[in-house]
Amino acid sequence: MIARTHDLASITALGVIFVLMPTQPISLATVIIAILANLIGGITPDIDQPTAPLWKNLPIGKYFGKIFGHLLGGHRFFTHSILGLAFFGFLTHLLLIFLQPIMSSVDTNIVWWAFMIGMLSHLVMDTFTKEGVPWLLPIPIKFGFPPIRTWRITTDTWVELWVVFSLLIAFNIWFYFVHYQQLLFLLRHVIGS
Ligand SMILES: [Zn+2]
Repeated sequence: MIARTHDLASITALGVIFVLMPTQPISLATVIIAILANLIGGITPDIDQPTAPLWKNLPIGKYFGKIFGHLLGGHRFFTHSILGLAFFGFLTHLLLIFLQPIMSSVDTNIVWWAFMIGMLSHLVMDTFTKEGVPWLLPIPIKFGFPPIRTWRITTDTWVELWVVFSLLIAFNIWFYFVHYQQLLFLLRHVIGS
C-alpha cells in the first residue's frame, strides 16, 4: 500500500489504543513525539524500496534506497516480518535511550509503543494486498488475507485510494463519535498535566 494509506492506518491504530487503554496523564510533548514516531513507524517497512517517502525526499535518496533495498533483501522481505519488527523495535529503543537526556518531559516508553503500533499496522495493512507479507521469516512464505489472492487489494489502485482510504476515514469518524466522552477525558488529562 502507499505511504498515505499506511500513515492513516497507523494513526487510526494509535488513536484506538490511546482511547481504549486507560493511560496515566501524559505530557503534550509526549503526545506530539508519539504521533510523529507512530507516523514514522507506519512507513518504516517500506524503506526497502527506492520509491519510499524517506528516499524520495533526500537529494540522492533513490540511489541509497536501491542499496538499502538490496541489503534488506529486497521489497517486502526483512522489514515486513516479525524479525524485522523486533530489529527496528530494538534500534528505536536504543535511539530513545540516547535521546532521553534531551527529552526529559517525554515518556519514551509511550513513544516506543507508538512507533511499534505504526510498524505493526503497516504489516497488517500489507497483508490485505496481493503480494502478502513474509511474517515468519526466515520461513519464506508470504501470508495474505483473504487467503484467495485475487480477493486481495492491489497497491495504488482505485480500491486502495478510494475504498480503503474512505473506509479508514469513516471508521475514525464512527470511532471518535462513539468514544467522544473518553476522548474528551483523555484530552483534558493531556492538557492539564
Ligand atoms: Zn510495505
